Amino acid sequence: MRIACGGFMHETNTFVPEVTGWDRFCITGAWPGFTRGPDILSRMRPFNLAISGFMGIAETAGHQMLPLSWSFAQPSGPVADSVFERASAYLLADIADAAPEAVFLELHGAMTTETIEDAEGELLARVRRLVGPDMPVVASLDLHANVTQKMVDCASFLSAYRTYPHVDWKQTGERVARWLPRVQAWGAKPARAFRQIPYLISLAAGCSLIEPMRGLYALLEAIETETGVHLSLCPGFPSADIYDTGATVIGYGADQAAVDAAVERLTAAVMAAEAAFLEHRAKPAAEAIGTAFARAAGATKPVIIADTQDNPGAGGASITTGLLAALLAAKAQRTLVALLFEPAIAAAAHAAGTGATIDVIFARDGTGPGEVPLAARAQVMALSDGRFVGTGPMVGGQPINLGPAAWLRIGGVDVVIGSVRQQPHSRALVTHLGVDIQAYQVIVLKSSVHFRGDWQAHADSVVVAASPGAALDDTGIIPYGKLRPNVRRRPMANN
Ligand SMILES: [Zn+2]
Repeated sequence: MRIACGGFMHETNTFVPEVTGWDRFCITGAWPGFTRGPDILSRMRPFNLAISGFMGIAETAGHQMLPLSWSFAQPSGPVADSVFERASAYLLADIADAAPEAVFLELHGAMTTETIEDAEGELLARVRRLVGPDMPVVASLDLHANVTQKMVDCASFLSAYRTYPHVDWKQTGERVARWLPRVQAWGAKPARAFRQIPYLISLAAGCSLIEPMRGLYALLEAIETETGVHLSLCPGFPSADIYDTGATVIGYGADQAAVDAAVERLTAAVMAAEAAFLEHRAKPAAEAIGTAFARAAGATKPVIIADTQDNPGAGGASITTGLLAALLAAKAQRTLVALLFEPAIAAAAHAAGTGATIDVIFARDGTGPGEVPLAARAQVMALSDGRFVGTGPMVGGQPINLGPAAWLRIGGVDVVIGSVRQQPHSRALVTHLGVDIQAYQVIVLKSSVHFRGDWQAHADSVVVAASPGAALDDTGIIPYGKLRPNVRRRPMANN
């Protein structure tokens, strides 16, 4: 079979005012920048990406891959309409030229443009109009997809990651490839079911390493094994003010009654878990710091504070200074803060050289919540060009580009800064500079959950802090205007 393969991914934090332009899709950080044409067949291979997993399994099964285009940008504000039109036009033109028998797309599922709330639904609708009602159009989704009825109607088959930290991007693409023959056999109208969960789940509470998500994903796989129905469970991406924000369950199979029953069973379990999601509310910043140092006093490994609200993986700027300022004011010792997105400070550190002392202002031009300028005198401990190989289950073995990077020391607080915005999903983002993680009692990471994949085994424990940032932990205080009615904004809430 001739299969057209491509991708277009963005997780949009609609509360970030800055529009996301084309340049953001061209940056190579932990994943490749915009790629079009035959390069896709080689460039994507080393990466933990759905498209690489899909192509690997599909080629082994004897299918021919027809490359389209692929692009990804770090989560940020609404995608410019012009960017959506450009990427969509590339995909549609290349599908038309390729004359495929099936289409695979690597999508996120929470992309919003300046004027389109459900960008993936719109893209899938355009693809469906182009290829007609009978061609299989299959797609992978991020676990944080805000899945819509339109996406389910227009695609033949959707399959979402089942891990957060996302260690299964590639496996998800492999799973789509393995299900493709069944999708083909089901024909133009496969049995499917879709349910939206009537309460919101915070990012940190959606971690699949902890309950209730761990048990829900185990149940999902047990139901699949028992029934032969394919299931996805997406907790959704809450920092999106759109009608369809929230958790969903999707099922596909040969028989409608079996699909309905499987989806109802998983949905009932998600409904029963509602109260358990409340266990993971972030602590106020001062309380989180106090808890972390109290635990560290009796620990042999560092305690990690997750600065979840400034997570660049959820649209955070990765420059807020709340926790850093509190640590410096408290004269904290043996403490590390990573990663701050500070290209200008990195450039100054590189100009001054290792061992130099420089005066810096963090968040100098910041305008978002918590981006309070903070002046400090810092010693340059080490410098790098920010190019190294990732560690851990998410990006292990992959080339990473952090841009010019620096390890700075301000009294007892060390800070690692980079020039390509990304979260510390891999320890290599700091260890490549010579930083010894075990030298610290407390480590602040600008990440919600992804850090757990590579850091948690090296830490005593994790405290989630609510310090100012663009990705609010408490969904109950997110100022939604477009969210559909009758959704509980916080688990168990009366609204
Ligand atoms: Zn995600």
